[in-house]
Amino acid sequence: MPIISAYPEPIQQAIAYLSHLPGIGSRSAERMVLSMMTWKPEEREGLGCAIAALASKVAHCPICGNYTEVGHPCHICTSEARQRDIICVVEQVPQLHIIEKSGSYKGLYHVLGGKLSPMNGKGPNDLRIAELAQRLEGEAIKELLLALSPDIEGEATANYLAQLFTRPGLTITRIASGVPIGADLTFADSATLATAISGRRVITMN
Ligand SMILES: [Zn+2]
Repeated sequence: MPIISAYPEPIQQAIAYLSHLPGIGSRSAERMVLSMMTWKPEEREGLGCAIAALASKVAHCPICGNYTEVGHPCHICTSEARQRDIICVVEQVPQLHIIEKSGSYKGLYHVLGGKLSPMNGKGPNDLRIAELAQRLEGEAIKELLLALSPDIEGEATANYLAQLFTRPGLTITRIASGVPIGADLTFADSATLATAISGRRVITMN
């Protein structure tokens, strides 16, 4: 453990907050703060303002649950360039942004806020499922794409949603899962290979 008690209070506090971040221990946090102390004072102030704005100016989009500026739906929900008859359901906001960065999807999103997990006391009422139901009533949605983790809880959540929202005119799909790009089949585990085989696609058919 680094000895941080010789630092003035503001430095100690900054170290304590930064070490809450995933993958950042107190030693890395200490290095980050000491590095910031070499910045110009106005740069440190700028960082402080940016962090303060995360609390005062950012909220969840009232429609999809993405992050947005307080009081406004997010830029995806309001964009005229998006395909408006498909909703991609994700567990958390970061997954929405990973799909966005892939550039492979142009529809709308819905952030559930997690997945069903009876072991951890997380039931349907703890997720944004009622909000999704409302959207399916009010918007002309043709496809619900479930982009949930391929684990037991993700499967259970996908099955629950598929049963709940089965109705004429609505196609419910799941993202494919299987062997990652660039991976060697020799090292794939059998559960991954089993999903890859059951989700196989046709290359030629005669
Ligand atoms: Zn939104």
